[in-house]
Amino acid sequence: TSFDSYFLMNPDDVKMYVREKIAGFENTGKLSCKEIGDGNLNYVFRVVDEETGSSIIVKQAGETARISDDFKLSTNRIRIESNILKLQGELARGLVPKVSLYDERMNCCVMEDLSDHTILRTALLEQRVFPNLAEDLSTFMVNTLLLTTDVVLEHKKKKELVKDYINPELCEISEDLVYTEPFNNCNNRNELFPANKEWIEKTIYGDDRLRLEAAKLKFAFITNAQALVHGDLHTGSIFVKEDSTKVIDPEFAFYGPIGYDVGNVVANLIFAWANFTFTGGSNLDYRNWLESTIAKTVDLFTEKFLASWQENVTDIMAKEKGFAQWYLDGVLADTAGIAGLELTRRIVGLAKVKDITSISDEKSRVQAERVCLETAKAFILERKSYKNGQDFLDTLKKVY
Ligand code: ADP
Ligand code: MG
Ligand code: MG
Ligand code: MG
Repeated sequence: TSFDSYFLMNPDDVKMYVREKIAGFENTGKLSCKEIGDGNLNYVFRVVDEETGSSIIVKQAGETARISDDFKLSTNRIRIESNILKLQGELARGLVPKVSLYDERMNCCVMEDLSDHTILRTALLEQRVFPNLAEDLSTFMVNTLLLTTDVVLEHKKKKELVKDYINPELCEISEDLVYTEPFNNCNNRNELFPANKEWIEKTIYGDDRLRLEAAKLKFAFITNAQALVHGDLHTGSIFVKEDSTKVIDPEFAFYGPIGYDVGNVVANLIFAWANFTFTGGSNLDYRNWLESTIAKTVDLFTEKFLASWQENVTDIMAKEKGFAQWYLDGVLADTAGIAGLELTRRIVGLAKVKDITSISDEKSRVQAERVCLETAKAFILERKSYKNGQDFLDTLKKVY
């Protein structure tokens, strides 16, 4: 097989590919390979050298989505993913997988195997505790976000990056699924839990004020080229192990609002909280850790953001007294607004989260969805009033 022109690989192709392309895998007799992808869009292969035990991941983008051949999508997303993983690896050392190869012909990215880690969403449903999570995620976000803004980067360099990360198709997915459909079901793709259908139609579709605020957030997402965001930073894009955090799957990356990433993290931690709370969770150490992680993620983000601002900001006007706080207030308002959008779209929209759908008791699921959606509405409508981590928890506790 020649890998000079693109085709979708099967596990045997991937074994040959790795032998040919990756140093250390050329000479071994025994390679095994399995497709382990669980996402909607791409193929993820794990190749293991059965003799030495060393292993590697090959992620290949198809010209259609993995879940549906009707859904055409440019393979440009794997270029974006490969490039940003390298950049994030420099900005946030140790917090993303190492990339060993980006192949623009085969549209694949070869990267470090993180199979000794667990996907955070899965680990949270098992009520496992990760003491470094808030530290690591806040460092990841401050380093990858603040350091790619106009207040830090030379403006021409920043505009070059904006160009490199133009990502219209994946942005459109977010514009539709996060910012539009949850509020009006305009494409008839929403899936409402039957026992909550009427309540959601009234409480979400029927709220003019909410739809107006969602509209404002939508056009901010489209126009606010603030920082190079990850763009899909939910708990399914985070790998964890006792002492390690790794952020994966940045194919949605583009220049957008910093709060897009922070808000996604907050919302998805709240989904884990809702799962715990509405499945009768009784492990109080876990609950306390999770709640403090929600608050600490926001507070450590703020603290590190201001410290990094002092150290790294270059633009002379950005050094005006009061500007950093004004900028941060905007980021926190976006964080609240976007956390609200994510909480809404994962319950109302097409793409669900296991945290909610796995709640098997009907009444509990109804309650979990309502608490998330009432919290979401407060986050969106009152977004300018969120100043610290406790503010987010207070809303959740008040609604609950
Ligand atoms: P998609 O873009 O299709 O969502 P992801 O990058 O999220 O693909 O990967 C899908 C799954 O493949 C992950 O949930 C994880 O189980 C596995 N995976 C992805 N990258 C790695 C890696 N570097 N090491 C080990 N497993 C991985
Ligand atoms: Mg994914
Ligand atoms: Mg996935
Ligand atoms: Mg993905």
